Amino acid sequence: QYILGIETSCDETAASIIKNGREIVANVVASQIESHKRFGGVVPEIASRHHVEQLTIVFEEAMKQADLTFADLSAIAVTEGPGLVGALLTGINAAKALAFAHGIPLIGVHHIAGHIYANRLIHELEFPLLALVVSGGHTELVYMREHGDFEVIGETLDDAAGEAYDKVARTLGLPYPGGPHIDKLAHEGQASIDLPRAWLSEGSFDFSFSGLKSAVINTLHNAKQKGIELDPKDVAASFQASVIDVLVTKTAQAVDKYHVKQLLLAGGVAANKGLRTALESEFSSREGLTLTIPPLSLCTDNAAMIAAAGSILYEKGVRSDLALNANPGLELTSYQQK
Ligand code: ATP
Ligand code: MG
Ligand code: FE
Repeated sequence: QYILGIETSCDETAASIIKNGREIVANVVASQIESHKRFGGVVPEIASRHHVEQLTIVFEEAMKQADLTFADLSAIAVTEGPGLVGALLTGINAAKALAFAHGIPLIGVHHIAGHIYANRLIHELEFPLLALVVSGGHTELVYMREHGDFEVIGETLDDAAGEAYDKVARTLGLPYPGGPHIDKLAHEGQASIDLPRAWLSEGSFDFSFSGLKSAVINTLHNAKQKGIELDPKDVAASFQASVIDVLVTKTAQAVDKYHVKQLLLAGGVAANKGLRTALESEFSSREGLTLTIPPLSLCTDNAAMIAAAGSILYEKGVRSDLALNANPGLELTSYQQK
């Protein structure tokens, strides 16, 4: 079974081919970061244009790397949402054209299901499991009883973790995307500034990061008014300590409550060194629990994860027709019922 995955939900144009759901035979990602950097964020219209230019190059490169022809493909899996509508449409239309021209089944995939299934490329999933999803647009704890069954047990009420990273980075004058820059600075500084942690109500697995972001902005502002120079390294270290404290503590509470066999880390913020280290020290030696953390290249947006999630849908007999449309607000929980 060979699945071609296509991902264009944001600013990465990606194509990948996965064998039997778990083995990467080709993985190509064209990033647009350089084009968006000077605007300090992703410009949707520019993203769509780049996707259109890059798509053919990227999937042809993937086919070449895999040394396959279209007749060898079992299905084409493409991100149908959530994401930028114009960006999603470029990938969906390319996937439809290929599926129609070569008579290959088409499968629409949820982008966050993809982030979660990146883990299956590292380790077979063991149910029940819990996934900590931390990305540019999402922060949630997802409980899974079996393949394709997603229960969101907690999510952010405001900003996503990645969004908070990018906004704090911007305040510190760091380039877009700010996550990796804050991560690097944090390791050079001290978490000496007292910043809030949003625990929310007792037993809640929801998150909130906008208060933390405002606290960082206010702290910088107040210090400046008093003529005090705060070291950006200490600001980064203090911010990162607060984010990691809340993520790891809530994840630990959920692991205990749901008695899961495996804990997965997913999404772009999963590339964060501080978070990876904190999760490893908390969970790697727990008896009866497998901790799985994908390598950095499978944490940020890629198409291998889309093909991996598509592979399970393919086995379940799920197919999309040529009316498949972009769904920018697609929900993970409703998606499982298709
Ligand atoms: P979503 O997956 O929710 O639709 P997205 O696809 O835009 O959003 P991803 O590509 O999964 O998001 O992740 C991008 C985010 O990851 C950005 O906010 C970026 O700053 C953050 N990020 C990447 N590397 C790191 C890091 N080392 N530390 C913290 N954040 C990071
Ligand atoms: Mg991106
Ligand atoms: Fe993503």
